[in-house]
Amino acid sequence: MKREQTEVLIVGLGPVGAALGVYLGRMGVSAIAIERDRHVYPLPRAAHLDHETMRLLHLAGGAEAVAAASQPLSAYEFRNAAGELLMGFTPGGELAPTGWPFSSMFHQPTLEHALRARLAEMPSVSTRLGHALKGYEVAGEGIVAEVEGESGVYEVAARFIIGCDGGNSLVRRSAGIALDDMGFDEPWLVIDTVLQNGVTRLSTVGLQHCDPARPVTSMPMAPGRHRWEFMLLDGETPEDVTSDEAIAAMLAPYAGAASLDIERRAVYRFHALVAEKWRQGPVILAGDAAHQMPPFMGQGLCSGTRDAANIAWKIEAVLRGRADESLLDSYQAEREPHVRMITEMAVSMGKVVCTRDAEEARLRDEGMLAQPEDARMKGMMTLQGIATGILAGGGAVFPDPGHGAARLDDAAGYAPILIVREDCEAARAFADAGGFTVLCRDLPDPQGYLAMLLGDAPAVLVRPDRYVFGIGEAAVLTAAWAHYLASGVAGAPAAAA
Ligand SMILES: Cc1cc2nc3c(=O)[nH]c(=O)nc-3n(C[C@H](O)[C@H](O)[C@H](O)COP(=O)(O)OP(=O)(O)OC[C@H]3O[C@@H](n4cnc5c(N)ncnc54)[C@H](O)[C@@H]3O)c2cc1C
Repeated sequence: MKREQTEVLIVGLGPVGAALGVYLGRMGVSAIAIERDRHVYPLPRAAHLDHETMRLLHLAGGAEAVAAASQPLSAYEFRNAAGELLMGFTPGGELAPTGWPFSSMFHQPTLEHALRARLAEMPSVSTRLGHALKGYEVAGEGIVAEVEGESGVYEVAARFIIGCDGGNSLVRRSAGIALDDMGFDEPWLVIDTVLQNGVTRLSTVGLQHCDPARPVTSMPMAPGRHRWEFMLLDGETPEDVTSDEAIAAMLAPYAGAASLDIERRAVYRFHALVAEKWRQGPVILAGDAAHQMPPFMGQGLCSGTRDAANIAWKIEAVLRGRADESLLDSYQAEREPHVRMITEMAVSMGKVVCTRDAEEARLRDEGMLAQPEDARMKGMMTLQGIATGILAGGGAVFPDPGHGAARLDDAAGYAPILIVREDCEAARAFADAGGFTVLCRDLPDPQGYLAMLLGDAPAVLVRPDRYVFGIGEAAVLTAAWAHYLASGVAGAPAAAA
C-alpha cells in the first residue's frame, strides 16, 4: 500500500482542525489534514464567540470574515416564567482588551470557509477533503494511519496524529481514551431560522426563559438569523417535537408575527464530557474530541480554538528539537482545568435553566430575586487565564495594546512576543531565534493596557497563544522561556516577577 510521510496528521477539518492546520502551517510544520466530508457542514452550530477566541481566530485567518457577518450581543439574560430578571450579563464596553467585541453572534459555516481558505495558502499543509481516517497504530515514536480517499486506501506515517474529529472521535476511541461525565445530559430541540423581508435581527439580547413548564432559549445569531431552543419534556420524543405543527405551536409565543424560514430542526443531547487523557504518546486530542459542554456559555468552539492555539507551538518546538517531548504534557495540564471550569459554569447555568419542578423553580426564583438587581446583572464574563503551566509568573490573557487598531497581533503573528523598554542583547537573541521583539515606545497604547501590565518592569514575554509568560528582566524571561521549552517542566522560576 502507498505510504506517505508527514510530521503531523490532522484528522477532521471542523473549525478546530482548520485553525490548528493554519497555526502549524504558519510555522512551516509539514502536515496532512484530512476531512471525510467534501464540504463545510452547512448548518450553524456555534452561535457565539468571545473576544479571546476572535483574537485567536484572527491569528488563524478566520476573524475578519466572522466580524463582517456578525453582530454583538447587548446582554445575555436569564428570566423566570413571569419575565423577572434572575441574572444577566452585559458587555463592559464596545471592545474587550484584546481589541475584539466581548461577544460576537456569528455564522459557523462562514468561519469554517474562511479558515479553510487560509489553510489552502499554507504550503507545508496538504488538505484532503473527502479523505477519512479508517484507523491507526502507534509505531515507534509516531503512528501509521490508514486513510481512505477517492482513489482508495493509503497509509500516512506521522510523528503525531491530532484528533480534531469531533464528539464521536475515532482517534480518541482507537486510543481507548475514556470520557469523564461531568453530570449533564438533557435533550433539547434546536430550531434555526432565517429571517425574511430583510429583517436582520429580532433582538440583540440572548434570553434564557427559565420556565419550568418548558425551558426555552432565544438567541440572535449572525444578522438575518435567529435560534430558539426548547427543552424536551419527560416522555417527549424527537418525532413529537419536530413536526411542522409542533414547531409552529412552540414558536408562536416567542416569534410572534415574525416572518421566517426554518433552516434546521434537530434534537441534540447537551452533554458535559471531558477526555481523561488529551495526549497519549503521539496521539493528541483537541476540540470536541477532547471535551463537550452544554451550550449555555457558548464556549465549545471557543475552547477548541484555545486547544489548537495551545498545542501548535509546543508541537513545533518538539519537532524542531528545541523542546523535550514532555513539553506536550503541559497541554492537558493547562487546558483541562480551564475547560472544566467553563464546563462547570455551563452546567450550573444549565441547571438554573433546566429546572422542571415548579416548587424548585419557585425557590430558585425566590433565592435569586432576593439579591439586589445590580448584583444579578454583571459585566460580560471575562474568563480567567491559566494558573499553572509554562509560565514565569504570568498566565493572564495579554491585551492587544493597539486595541483594535494597529494590532500587535498583526505584526507578530502566531509567535512568542517580547516587549522591551530598551534594546538589549537578550531581545536581539530572542528575535534571532524566531521570536517577535518590539520596543515599548513603538507600540500605541491608547487605553494604557500595556503600561498597566508592565508597571515599572522592563519587559514582558507573551506566548504564541497570547497568555502572558512573565513580566520582568528580558534576560531572565528569555532564559526561563528557553529553559521551559527545553525541559517541559512547568512552574515559575524565582528570578522572574
Ligand atoms: C446547538 C449547538 C450550539 C452551540 N453553540 C456554541 C456557541 O455558541 N459557541 C461555541 O463556542 N460553541 C458552540 N457549540 C459547540 C461547537 O459547535 C463545537 O464545539 C465545534 O463545532 C467543535 O469543533 P471541532 O472542530 O472540534 O469539531 P467538529 O466541528 O465536529 O468537526 C469535526 C470534523 O471531523 C470530521 N471527521 C470526523 N471523523 C472523521 C474521520 N474518521 N476522518 C476524517 N474526518 C473526520 C467531521 O466530518 C467534522 O468535519 C454549539 C454546539 C451545538 C450543537
